[in-house]
Amino acid sequence: MTSPSLPGGAAATPATGASVPAAGASVPAAAGSVPAAAGSVPAAGASVPAVRLAGIHKAFPVHGGDPTVALQDISLDVAQTEFVSLIGPSGCGKSTLLRVVGDLITPSAGIVEVNGKPASQARLDRDYGMVFQAPVLFDWRTVEANVRLPLEIIKTSGTEQRKRVQEKLDLVGLSDFMRHYPHQLSGGMQQRVAIARALVFEPALLLMDEPFGALDEMTRERLNGEVLKIWARTGTTVLFVTHSIPEAVFLSTRVVVMSPRPGRISDIVDIDLPQPRNEETRESDRYFELVTQVREALRAQHGGGASAARTRAEGAIG
Ligand code: ADP
Ligand code: MG
Repeated sequence: MTSPSLPGGAAATPATGASVPAAGASVPAAAGSVPAAAGSVPAAGASVPAVRLAGIHKAFPVHGGDPTVALQDISLDVAQTEFVSLIGPSGCGKSTLLRVVGDLITPSAGIVEVNGKPASQARLDRDYGMVFQAPVLFDWRTVEANVRLPLEIIKTSGTEQRKRVQEKLDLVGLSDFMRHYPHQLSGGMQQRVAIARALVFEPALLLMDEPFGALDEMTRERLNGEVLKIWARTGTTVLFVTHSIPEAVFLSTRVVVMSPRPGRISDIVDIDLPQPRNEETRESDRYFELVTQVREALRAQHGGGASAARTRAEGAIG
């Protein structure tokens, strides 16, 4: 397994141009290997960031008042196969930023590119999988039918549908629950169904907005481990929003710390913990150091005083 050991920095692409890193397989390096759907393939190959944000600004109009400035001057490159978490106080614009990347919200200013393309094109090309805090499953459809839905919509062949759905359910460990309905599953299992569905197009970029925020601590830790395994096996790039400092540190190659609204990037912490991560990771000295580093970066943003004390007491922010 090579991909998750990729260093955090966006400029991490090795100089050996022709050798595509294994996990960058979704982006061919050499022009000669460009498949038929050439229009959707970035010319510069593996060196193209998975996400490129430059000068992003977002203001929401407010009826009869000043606009709410949610994001201010956000610039960030996320390299292929990185796992980047966004962390910051509630209302600082984390979800807005994720939605800008996912082309669900248009920024007021700035450039957003995904795999070298405008976000709108990336959406058309199905470069994204998205997972939100609520799993948003259809109660009247079985697990299998929920995961299959996106493939039905684009009319993939029946054989291909069955193959993909089986693969993704295997990946999230739910093959034995294919015929169950969502209400027959625990919250953690429902969220795994949502993850399987997000993976069904084999997206190059997985966007996750507090996917485990509603789950108990033990379930959350278990699913953190599962997400890392999926990340390692699929080689997808992940942009992950959380308000949990331990979760951000455990999962990520980099943690992006945002300031209170208007959201700006105040700090970026490289998470140099070895891969694969496991229970030993959570007990290592370096893990505790990094948790402290992220907490202090957040506290600096809260400006000390009462809110810092609250952050300390809660062990998390958001
Ligand atoms: P976070 O996810 O960090 O908690 P959000 O991105 O949801 O924060 O929100 C950032 C700010 O933008 C908040 O002040 C919120 O009220 C505002 N906001 C978010 N979405 C909208 C919207 N669709 N219309 C108006 N204001 C919005
Ligand atoms: Mg949010």
